Amino acid sequence: MNLDFRDQIADLQNAAENWTPQRTLAWAFETFGNGVAISSAFGAEGMVLIDIASRVRKDFRLFTMDTEFLFPETYSLMDRIEERYGIAIEKVYPALSPEEQERTHGTALWSRNPDFCCNLRKVEPLRRKLSELSAWTTSIRRDQTSARASARRIEWDANFGLAKINPIVDWTSKQVWRYIHDHDVPYNQLHDQDYPSIGCTHCTRAGRWPGFAKTECGLHIIEPAADSAAAFQNSDGSDQDL
Ligand code: SF4
Repeated sequence: MNLDFRDQIADLQNAAENWTPQRTLAWAFETFGNGVAISSAFGAEGMVLIDIASRVRKDFRLFTMDTEFLFPETYSLMDRIEERYGIAIEKVYPALSPEEQERTHGTALWSRNPDFCCNLRKVEPLRRKLSELSAWTTSIRRDQTSARASARRIEWDANFGLAKINPIVDWTSKQVWRYIHDHDVPYNQLHDQDYPSIGCTHCTRAGRWPGFAKTECGLHIIEPAADSAAAFQNSDGSDQDL
């Protein structure tokens, strides 16, 4: 199936550029069935995607990387999502608990080697989750970062070896917030306190990875990577907001 998809990708990409998010999601659900899932960290874009998906198919799959370092407001939002949309979020955990990570790699790894910390708590768990799927759906937008500027609505994800669907890739931040207000979509209350994007407690408050050139977790790399280490070393972009 993947070889067929890769053969058709160029024609499909061109056609899909004019698709609405609704049509893109309908195509993804029809094409991949239970093998496609939405990945989200529940930022504003992610909430829009979840709401649109709920109007296309009631029982869509939704997963998140739970680093175990998330804000209480994010966990509260997850509860609200499950209640409003009638779904169970698939929570993907790192192999090491926070305590095991501290025992193995020392205290506050995120302040000494954030690439390694993100690899342990996001990239490797994501790789494990994506190995179960034929396609993943994200809420990345082209104007978020330079790394995302060339993203297509439908792509082959060479890093993780599956199809990647980006239904709102051409949306602006203004469109996202207009949709949220027009459709009364729940969102993380930290946005009301001027948090532009919300990830782990250790790294969000003072800005992403202060003191490091790092700006991306390694989840949306355009260039192929032979392994996860290459994936996070080559990164440049912004945050976990899938
Ligand atoms: S965002 Fe910070 S705490 Fe979270 S996984 Fe990355 S380095 Fe670790």
